Formats: sequence, C-alpha cells, structure tokens
Amino acid sequence: MLVIALLVGLYYSPAILDRHIMPALNPLVPGSDVPPRGVDAAADPLGTPPVGTGSGSFRLLPSPDPEQDFVAYDPCRPVRYVIRPQDSPPGGEELIHQGIAEISSATGLRFIYDGPTSEAPTEQRKKFQPERYGKRWAPVLIAWSTPEETPGLAGEVAGLGGSAVAHVPGHPMVYVAGQVKLDAPALAPFLAHREGPALLRAVIIHELAHVVGMGHTEDRNQLMHDDNVGVTSLADGDRAGLALLGTGACVPQL
Ligand SMILES: [Zn+2]
Repeated sequence: MLVIALLVGLYYSPAILDRHIMPALNPLVPGSDVPPRGVDAAADPLGTPPVGTGSGSFRLLPSPDPEQDFVAYDPCRPVRYVIRPQDSPPGGEELIHQGIAEISSATGLRFIYDGPTSEAPTEQRKKFQPERYGKRWAPVLIAWSTPEETPGLAGEVAGLGGSAVAHVPGHPMVYVAGQVKLDAPALAPFLAHREGPALLRAVIIHELAHVVGMGHTEDRNQLMHDDNVGVTSLADGDRAGLALLGTGACVPQL
C-alpha cells in the first residue's frame, strides 16, 4: 500500500518548466545566452520511431504555438543527459539508464549519457551553460532531490519532469534542456519491496515521458495517467504518443 500511495503522487507542472520561449536567437553576439547553431545536428534523424504502436489513449503536452501541433526534441541530434547522483538510492543510476532506454526505443530518439553532474535542479534553469557543459544546449538533468530543495515534490509528488522550449523564428519550436526531479527520500523506501525497482523505474519513465512531451491521459491503463496505481511499463497509448514525439522536426538553425 505504501507503494501505491507514493505512485499516486506522479505529477507534472508545465508552468514551471515549459514556458521559456525565446523570441529570437542571436548566437553570434559575444556573451550570448544561446549556443552556436546546429551543434551535434546530423542531416537526418538518428533513429526511427516504431510504427504500429496501437490505438490507446494519450495526450501530448500543449504546444505554445497554435500553428504547431506539438513540440518535440530534434530527432537529428542526440538528447544528452546527466545525472546528479547526490542522495541516489542504491541502484538508482541503473534504473535511470533503463528508463532512458525505454523512452529511446519508444521514440526513436537517441540519448547519450554525459556523466554525473553536481548541478542542482532549479525552476529557472539556464538552457545554455557553457562553463559546465560546453557550447551546446544544456543536457537533460536527472536529479535525486528532496522537497526541501524542490518544493514541488512536497506531499505525495514523487517526481517532476519537463523541458524548456527553444525557438528560431520561422522554424518549429523544439525542446531543449529538460529536467527530472525525483523525490529521493520518498522513493528510496520502495527498494525494500520486491516490486520496488520496477515501481521506481515506472516513476522515472513517467517523468522522462513528460520531458519528451507527453502529457497526462484519463485512461487508467496507461503509464501516463496521473493517478497511476499499478501500471509499471509503457502501454499502447503511451507508446503511440511517444512514437509521435519521435517524429518532430529537425531544426539545425537552433
Ligand atoms: Zn505526470
């Protein structure tokens, strides 16, 4: 029952992580807060989203631009991620890599692990941190956190996930610099249970799905239901949505 009560707390706050839209980019200006254009960008998508994923229910996060159906990561570039290991429960890193592998195969997006970081999660995270991560968009930060550090994790909320939006006028918006914040003190006790690792991984997959653009669905059989009570792997609707999120535009102008 402990396990179920905690899973109820899956939560996402688009207001925090989702509303940073750049009106314009000028990477050539010294001291600019955006990276050079097209770092890591290939000519074609690096992977292929699966087809025939079923017809279950899903909902994508709303697009800030009514002219654009949905926002996704640029599939022509790897999605880099880093992990802040502080306060990680035992085996936590491996569960994160497993969650990443699930999201990668469900979207066709290619992920690259850039190693551990000491960066703390924040609400207003900088999307470009050249001193820490080099001259490219900041990687997805996956952090074990606490309600003291991340007030959004208070109560039954087990995790938060989302990405910032970057935009060059005339081209589709894309996601960059996502974050996942996991409630370490609330989640660590899961691991005392036999099902614990699978449940923790489910929380991680759910939050990573928000990072790549999934919203919540009303369908209780999907992992992206916000009151998840027992779904521990991606269901057909989740997979249909994630496959769609693998078909975003390549925007080398960013
Ligand atoms: Zn959620």
